[in-house]
Amino acid sequence: MKLDSYWLDTAPPGLPASEGPVEGRYDVAVIGGGFTGLSAALAFGRRGASVAVLDAGRMGGGASGRNGGQCNTGVAQDYAALRAQLGVERAQDCYRAYAAAVDTVERLIREEGIDCDYRASGKLKLAAKPHHLEHLERTAELIYREVDQDIEIIGRDRIRSEVDSESFFGGLLQRHGGQMHMGRFAVGLAKAGARRGARLYEHAAVTSIAKEGGAYRVESARGTLRAQQVLIATGPSRHGPFAWYRRRLAPVGSFIIVTEPLPEETLARLLPQRRSYTTSRLMHNYFRVTPDSRLLFGGRARFTASEQPSDAKSCRILRGNLAQLFPGLALARIDYCWGGLVDITADRLPRAGEHDGVWYSMGYSGHGTQMATHMGQAMADVMSGNAQANPWRNFAWPAIPGHTGKPWFLPLVGAYYQLKDVFY
Ligand SMILES: Cc1cc2nc3c(=O)[nH]c(=O)nc-3n(C[C@H](O)[C@H](O)[C@H](O)COP(=O)(O)OP(=O)(O)OC[C@H]3O[C@@H](n4cnc5c(N)ncnc54)[C@H](O)[C@@H]3O)c2cc1C
Repeated sequence: MKLDSYWLDTAPPGLPASEGPVEGRYDVAVIGGGFTGLSAALAFGRRGASVAVLDAGRMGGGASGRNGGQCNTGVAQDYAALRAQLGVERAQDCYRAYAAAVDTVERLIREEGIDCDYRASGKLKLAAKPHHLEHLERTAELIYREVDQDIEIIGRDRIRSEVDSESFFGGLLQRHGGQMHMGRFAVGLAKAGARRGARLYEHAAVTSIAKEGGAYRVESARGTLRAQQVLIATGPSRHGPFAWYRRRLAPVGSFIIVTEPLPEETLARLLPQRRSYTTSRLMHNYFRVTPDSRLLFGGRARFTASEQPSDAKSCRILRGNLAQLFPGLALARIDYCWGGLVDITADRLPRAGEHDGVWYSMGYSGHGTQMATHMGQAMADVMSGNAQANPWRNFAWPAIPGHTGKPWFLPLVGAYYQLKDVFY
C-alpha cells in the first residue's frame, strides 16, 4: 500500500515548473499552486498580465491533489440550515455560486482541452438513518422550489438500484456536477497557465510579504520577487506569514483509501450509475469509482491533522467503514492511503477579499474543487477592479473565538460529532 495520493501518483508528467531562483518583477504573485492559484494564474495570463506562482511543495500537492475527486454543486452545509441563517435570497446566491463553479470547471476543461476524465455524474447524498431521509426530503423540497429543479429524492424502494448496500434508506440526487481525475486537472491547469506565460515555482515556501515602495516584496525559500499585487491561495497553511488566516480557519484532516482495480461486474452491481456519493452522518464517508475501476473511499475518520502515521491509523478506520457499507469488499486490497487538510470556516462558506492590501481566497470547507477553480478566475476579475465578481464579498470574517492559530479544539469537536452521530 502506498501512503500517497492516488491522484498525484497517477498524474501525467510534464508539469512546466520554472527552474532557477525566484527573482524579478511581476504584475501578480500568487502564493499557493492549488486550484485557486493555478486557475488565477491562467486567468491573469489570459489577460496578458505577468504572473508567478510560488508553492511550498509541488503544484497541486495540497488539498487539490489529495481530495475525493468530486466536483459537486450545492453548498457545503445543508441548504435548509443556510436559508435559516442567511435568508432565502442570500442562500440562493450561495447555491448558485456553486452551480456556476461547476460550470467554470467544465468550461476550462473544454476551452483548454484538459484531459482529466471528467464525467457529469451528479452527486447522491445517502441517508444513513430513516429520519435522515425525512430531513433530505424537506431540504429537497426547498431546493426544488427555490433554486434547482435538477434534483430528485430516491426513495427506499429504489435506493438499492443506485447503491447495492443495506446501509441506506434513500438519498438526494443532485444531477448538476461531476467528477474528475484531480492530478490530471491540476497538470492541465498548470500547463494552460504556463502557455500564457505564468512562471510556476515549486519548493518555494513564502516566508514574508512586505510592502516596498509601490509594490510587494515576496521572500521565498528560492529567492525574492516583487509584484504589484499578491493573491494568497494557500488554504490552511501551517507555515509562512499567514497568522491572520490561521485564526479564521480550522484545518481538519480528511482521509482516503483506494482499493485495487475491481471487476467490472462487481462495480456494475454495487454502483451501476458511478456517481459521486456521500453519506448523511456528521462523521460522513464519501466515495466514487476511479477511471481505472478502483473504489476511492474517504471520510473524516478522526478529527486530527494529516501526517503519515495518523493517515495510516485513519485508513484502518476507513477500511472498517468500507467493509460495513460493502461487506463484499472487506477483503479487497487497499493500494493507496493518504490524508489532507480541509480549510473549514465557522459557517462553512468560503471567504475571499482583501486584507492589509493583499488579496486572498480560501475556506472552501471541503467543497473546493469547483469553488477554488472558480475563485481563481473570479479573483483575477476582482483584482482588476470588478468587485462584483466575488460571490463572497459581503461576508464578514471574524477570527474563530478562542482560536490562536493552533486548532486545540478539534478533538473536542470530533468527540461531539461522534456523540451526535450516535443519537441523531
Ligand atoms: C482529503 C480531502 C478530500 C476532499 N474532497 C473534496 C471533494 O471530493 N470535492 C471537493 O469539492 N472538495 C474536496 N476537498 C476540498 C478541495 O480539495 C479544496 O477545497 C481545494 O482543492 C482547495 O484548493 P486551494 O488551491 O485553495 O488549496 P490547496 O490545493 O491546498 O493549495 C494550497 C497550496 O498552498 C501551498 N502553500 C501553503 N503554504 C505556503 C507558503 N507559505 N508558501 C507557498 N506555498 C504555500 C501548499 O503547498 C498548497 O499546494 C477535499 C479536501 C481534502 C483534504
